[in-house]
Amino acid sequence: MSKIQNRMFQDLKNKDVFKSAQEYAFDYVDTILFRNVYPTKEAIEGLSNFDEELPEKSEDANLVLKKLHEFGNSATTATLGGRYFGFVCGSAVPVGIAAKNLASFWDQAPAMHVLSPIGSKLESVVEKWLTNLFNLPKSTVAGFVSGTSTANLCALGAARYRIYDKNNWDINKKGLRNAPEIRIVMGKQAHSTVLKAISVLGLGIENIEWVDVDEQGRIIPEQIPELSNNSLLILQAGNVNSGAYDDFEVICEKAKKADAWVHIDGAFGLWAQTVNDLKHLTKGIEKANSWAVDGHKTLNTPYDSGIVLCKDNDALTSALHMSGSYIIESKQRDGMFYTPEMSRRARVIELWAIIKYLGKDGIDEMILTMHQRAKQFATAIKNIKGFEVKNDVVFNQILVACSTDEITEKVLQQIQELRDCWLGGSVWFGKKVMRISVCSWATTEKDIITTVKSFEKALEIVTKK
Ligand SMILES: *Cc1c(COP(=O)(O)O)cnc(C)c1O
Repeated sequence: MSKIQNRMFQDLKNKDVFKSAQEYAFDYVDTILFRNVYPTKEAIEGLSNFDEELPEKSEDANLVLKKLHEFGNSATTATLGGRYFGFVCGSAVPVGIAAKNLASFWDQAPAMHVLSPIGSKLESVVEKWLTNLFNLPKSTVAGFVSGTSTANLCALGAARYRIYDKNNWDINKKGLRNAPEIRIVMGKQAHSTVLKAISVLGLGIENIEWVDVDEQGRIIPEQIPELSNNSLLILQAGNVNSGAYDDFEVICEKAKKADAWVHIDGAFGLWAQTVNDLKHLTKGIEKANSWAVDGHKTLNTPYDSGIVLCKDNDALTSALHMSGSYIIESKQRDGMFYTPEMSRRARVIELWAIIKYLGKDGIDEMILTMHQRAKQFATAIKNIKGFEVKNDVVFNQILVACSTDEITEKVLQQIQELRDCWLGGSVWFGKKVMRISVCSWATTEKDIITTVKSFEKALEIVTKK
């Protein structure tokens, strides 16, 4: 036995390193809900402690962890807590963190059933649960990927495969050269990851037929050009700024008649379908062909959890197909046929745990509460002179502006410096806005009150200067 091997066996056996990791983790969760939401200047400066040369000699495992704890902990953003409103992030449901922790020890890669029977089983189960939760067609299959960026890529890959296939063109074999034309139709407010997918797939951004949007960022249905069976129409459930939803019912009907492929980017917004009081927003989504959604945003799974959903099993698996002499295909699910990767971690485990824990009722309650907190914030901020809400708060996104771009920017900077909460900025129809996304299970009424106070204080400081 080598020396290092011996030490690793010792680490496994005496469990000190696991115990200290757990202690550090518990220490973290005990403070993160109350700590400054963005790291302090000192904490960020402390990161220079990681600027080391490549270590020559091996280190004690406990010291490795200690270093992470000492300098890493305080330089995290408090996305786990209730006052991080930046981007569209989401917290993590405790049972999901615990399940992920347990699954770390299992170290499973559900590429094939034979490689991880448990991973494969849970993927099959969760595929059915999600199809049910989103009320999608029975034939829907799911690929468990890292996020909606990849889910969009896979879904558009499936669309590309199917549209070419209808033209007797096998894209996998023949490639793009001399291929028939694909028409890509989408709204002017599509998320940038959709554009990335279109570039990666070689479809070309310049070939997009852009459709005008209304004041909330929704595609104007009457502006959609005549579609054909070579068309790929991309819709949005949850505009990344306003949270607005396209009119799926009307648009999908039109697309269906033309035999066009409809993809819905529903990274955070598709979850409205799981809430009784909000499902009017997603009416008609079941008429689409593919969907992309995140677990790590609205459902609050730990990070690295996106799902591609596709009604056309053959299109998705053909687009992502691979084989090799050593591949063992099973009669059960082999996850790698639904994802771009072969090896990947069994992220479905925490997804399963959270859905099992919350149930349909719990999901409804958790997400409705986020919506209610968003409404609470919008109502409170509207009552403060100097702030204006720029969007209809239909789900969890709020866009706030001050009287001028300059003040908006300064107030945002001031809020970030106060560190009571964190949010980013954006541009909405040419005007600078502050963008609040409420998507943490941990956001309480009190958190919203604290946040509104922070806005008020920041405005006061800026206008006094
Ligand atoms: C976040 C987001 C994406 C990208 O998802 P990732 O999980 O970050 O890859 C795509 N579309 C919309 C609308 C989003 O909000």
